[in-house]
Amino acid sequence: MSTFTEPTTLASILPPGSGLLTLGEAAHQLVSWWKPLLLLAPFVAWAWLISNVFDKHASRFFLGREKWNAIHLIAGMLALAAGFLMPVPGVGGFLAGFAAVLLILGLDVGLFAGITNRDERVPESQRLSLDFSKLSEARDARSESKQQATVQLEIKNASGIAVRAPQKDSPEYNVRANAEQIFIKASQVRASQVDFAPASESAYAASYLIDGVRQAGDAIPTGEALSLIDFWKSCAELDLKDRRRKLSGKIKVSGGAGESGVKIVTSGSKNGMRLTMLFDPDKAVRRPLEKLGFLDQQLADMKALGEIEGGVVLLAAPSDHGRTTTGYAVLNLHDAYTQNVQTVEVEKEDSLEGVRQIEFKPIEDGPDFASTVRSVLRRDPDVVSVMELPDVETAKEIAKADLARSRVYVSIKGDGAMASAQLWVKAVGDAKLAGNGLTGLVAQRLLRKLCENCRVPYQPPPEILKKLGLPADKVKQLHKKGGQVLIRNKPEACPVCQGLGYVGQTGVFEVYQLDDEMRSLVVKQDWIGLRNALRKTQRPSIQQAALRKAVEGVTSIEEVMRVTASSTSKPSSKSKPAKSSEAPANAG
Ligand SMILES: [Zn+2]
Repeated sequence: MSTFTEPTTLASILPPGSGLLTLGEAAHQLVSWWKPLLLLAPFVAWAWLISNVFDKHASRFFLGREKWNAIHLIAGMLALAAGFLMPVPGVGGFLAGFAAVLLILGLDVGLFAGITNRDERVPESQRLSLDFSKLSEARDARSESKQQATVQLEIKNASGIAVRAPQKDSPEYNVRANAEQIFIKASQVRASQVDFAPASESAYAASYLIDGVRQAGDAIPTGEALSLIDFWKSCAELDLKDRRRKLSGKIKVSGGAGESGVKIVTSGSKNGMRLTMLFDPDKAVRRPLEKLGFLDQQLADMKALGEIEGGVVLLAAPSDHGRTTTGYAVLNLHDAYTQNVQTVEVEKEDSLEGVRQIEFKPIEDGPDFASTVRSVLRRDPDVVSVMELPDVETAKEIAKADLARSRVYVSIKGDGAMASAQLWVKAVGDAKLAGNGLTGLVAQRLLRKLCENCRVPYQPPPEILKKLGLPADKVKQLHKKGGQVLIRNKPEACPVCQGLGYVGQTGVFEVYQLDDEMRSLVVKQDWIGLRNALRKTQRPSIQQAALRKAVEGVTSIEEVMRVTASSTSKPSSKSKPAKSSEAPANAG
């Protein structure tokens, strides 16, 4: 091609044998219009990537934007120098320069992606991917989803068989696509549960449970909502005609973020059907004791409780405050291989290794929960976790067991350690029997953790600290929820918490080991005496434990107030332990 020969002809006019020649060569490379254009192309792509993706990514997750921009600038200048000042003449020189540009810019891109993707501040779902097909797919999906929902998930029914997607343009296709949207929305906002319930004559309302707090979703016309409910029911192989009884089934759904187990629960009332979808309920309750949120001293106290043989330990929490999780996790204190460890549960949420789990299924004329517990306790197990206390009879069976030999953890719906002791005595109906068997009181609540990406530090006013009982000289800084990040001075919803300001939950506990004196106070039902004795142990209450989490920056004062406001209220006036929780799970 003549284009290749032209520069050499021009170069031959210049005097040979000097440095000017190479400079001249370099200049001649610019003479061909396609060469600089070709050289510029990678710069354009690189600059677009830096300014539209990387810079925003760095601001969103606070990855040191200035530092990175300086690195990009240096890389850009190096590449520019390499591309345009390569001292090798001819086509070879041009190609070498081009390769150097690609290499330097590529290194810069790889460095940014490699380092920031390993940064734990960036959630896995938000990591950079250099797979450009994904980018265009995402764009297509976005533009499509704006017009109409599509079928994009794989659903395995209760028998594990994939549910086939209906023909496009059929009404069934739309039902399925809309049903999938519920799952997609739920996983985007990290919901653990979605509920559909009738809101009015003509519409259903969706609500999402995110970190234990209900967030309202969209309203859906009744007809559409019923077809969605029927779709999920059919996946779970539940009887579509049964619109009254509580039914439940498990399915598997896979999308972009891997496979999730979904529990479908439906029930009916005179107002209409109700659907609850629980996402990975087994994973939610599977957490080691060390990760539940105990303070160091409390964890040591729990381990000490685990070493005592026998006795009843009450695990108290209101509904949806992590009782099931703790009921399983306390079994970590015992060796399931050398000891006989069992559970008795109304609804099994998770399978535990080495543990015999008795799932109680109520059948007409069958044994009730209390006799199931009795038959378990009669076999002298070392450790039993009773995951529900549905009635007075069960409490009596536990109190009458051989508690010198068997340790029984009793999950009790109650508010604080004091209240749980009172509930326990009332349920057993015999203060002596109830009090003498008590070894420990553990109570908890769940609070939301601040999103570390967008939480806002502030200096608390001394009068507020005084009100909270925090030392003003030690607490210099607290945090409140943010929810926004600034991208080029424009606020944007934080990508980690979707603007909620909180991500995840932690338990806050009170842990008391009872001594003989405390037991005698329970037997005497001297509650004021017991309260004082518990206080004398210098162990933190739930509220104090929660405040400590606020001081550590884990949560906000507002959240501590929201969660502990009612825990300081007077002891419960209920005379019976609460009925088995109607919610499908009290996990957390
Ligand atoms: Zn955030």
